[in-house]
Amino acid sequence: MKIIDTDILIVGGGIAGSALACGLRQAGYHITLVEQRKDKLDTARGDHLQICVVDLLAQWGALDTFMARGSHRRVGHEFCLPNGEVILQMDYAAEAAATGVNLPHPYFVVTPHDEIVEIFLDLAAENPNFVRLQPVNARKFQVEGDKLISAQVTLPDGSSAEIRPRLVVGADGTNSVLRGVMGFTADEYQYTHPMVAMFGPPPAGMGRSDYFYRYGSPHGMLVIQPRRPNWIKVTTVVGKEGIGWWKKSSAQDRAAMLAQRCHLMADFAGEIGGFYPTKMIHVHDYAKGNVVLVGDAAHSIHPARGQGLNVGIGCLGTLISHLPAPDQLGDPALLHGQLQRYASYQRERYAKQFARNHDAALAMEASVGENAEAFVRQEDDMIRKLHSVPELRRIHFLDAIGYPFGLP
Ligand SMILES: Cc1cc2nc3c(=O)[nH]c(=O)nc-3n(C[C@H](O)[C@H](O)[C@H](O)COP(=O)(O)OP(=O)(O)OC[C@H]3O[C@@H](n4cnc5c(N)ncnc54)[C@H](O)[C@@H]3O)c2cc1C
Repeated sequence: MKIIDTDILIVGGGIAGSALACGLRQAGYHITLVEQRKDKLDTARGDHLQICVVDLLAQWGALDTFMARGSHRRVGHEFCLPNGEVILQMDYAAEAAATGVNLPHPYFVVTPHDEIVEIFLDLAAENPNFVRLQPVNARKFQVEGDKLISAQVTLPDGSSAEIRPRLVVGADGTNSVLRGVMGFTADEYQYTHPMVAMFGPPPAGMGRSDYFYRYGSPHGMLVIQPRRPNWIKVTTVVGKEGIGWWKKSSAQDRAAMLAQRCHLMADFAGEIGGFYPTKMIHVHDYAKGNVVLVGDAAHSIHPARGQGLNVGIGCLGTLISHLPAPDQLGDPALLHGQLQRYASYQRERYAKQFARNHDAALAMEASVGENAEAFVRQEDDMIRKLHSVPELRRIHFLDAIGYPFGLP
């Protein structure tokens, strides 16, 4: 059997795994990334990279490549009533200037989900000691105590290999195998209503294609995220009508349903991109022995606030700053201590952020619940305050751009 000795084994080459390989490409580690997929990632998932992530891309020397490969900028957002009345508007550059916040990149970067990974992995390949094994499934692990000693895999040519890592990063998504193998425990919450994502051309009158739009309505909340200048992603909560209704629906049925949530959608000619069950999983510890979990493996969150992808990348800046240097990675006590430091710092930080995400998820559920009318009226009042009360507006701004606790 072939033996692959490596500094870092990354299990999962989705967003978090590929981003880590990119962020570490000049740090001198031998990195082996194992990804089971034959196909591209599901393009309907996260695609708007928050300003905090854009700053990280710049720090990693990756931002120019994202822009050169066709990404777009999103420079603001609007929260609206179903009839189109705007109750909160924010332009990030203007907001930064007005509040004295120094933002070198006052914009989100918009890149289709599947392309984000390919860009990260192309950059990761600049590391001469980067090995991408795909499609390869990592399932057989040898664990001694808290230490993951090796992973046995079947390589694409049918031969077997044993990977012997010093550090293992579990970036294997919501149904993480490593979470189970290493006995990580988690808080879990199953939300009632799934989400549906659709793609199509923007409706007439949508406004700027570099803005994001959220419509609150007692028939369900709806979000419009521009993808390309003439292409949008529409995400909404599946209400009482159920998934079965959406699956059978014609484009006209969908447009009529969506028009109850946003007046612009009456002529929307979009196709369904997918349905998404909504669940929160947040592990109690992010690290055990020589294993650390990142991305959805550590924290799957409801897409209500469009943050899963962003926290999955955002956490990596902190993780990277805690890793021992390549020549010290073989010291188990040092590695363990550094991972624990990372884990306790990050868990506390994210606990607050995820509590807010959970509230937003429950609000989305309430927007199709029994008291939807009253609930949505209350939400609208709160959003108007976010727009007009300077202190609240500042909190909303920092939260939206991914710096809920202020700029570092
Ligand atoms: C409809 C929808 C909309 C969303 N919108 C947003 C948004 O606007 N903004 C945002 O920030 N987030 C959004 N998200 C969330 C975001 O997409 C996820 O949080 C993010 O993609 C998670 O990335 P990840 O790398 O942790 O996991 P994944 O992307 O799931 O990657 C895990 C990878 O591990 C691989 N893998 C698993 N097990 C193994 C194994 N044993 N061996 C080898 N490989 C393995 C899988 O094949 C997969 O490629 C959205 C999600 C949904 C569903």
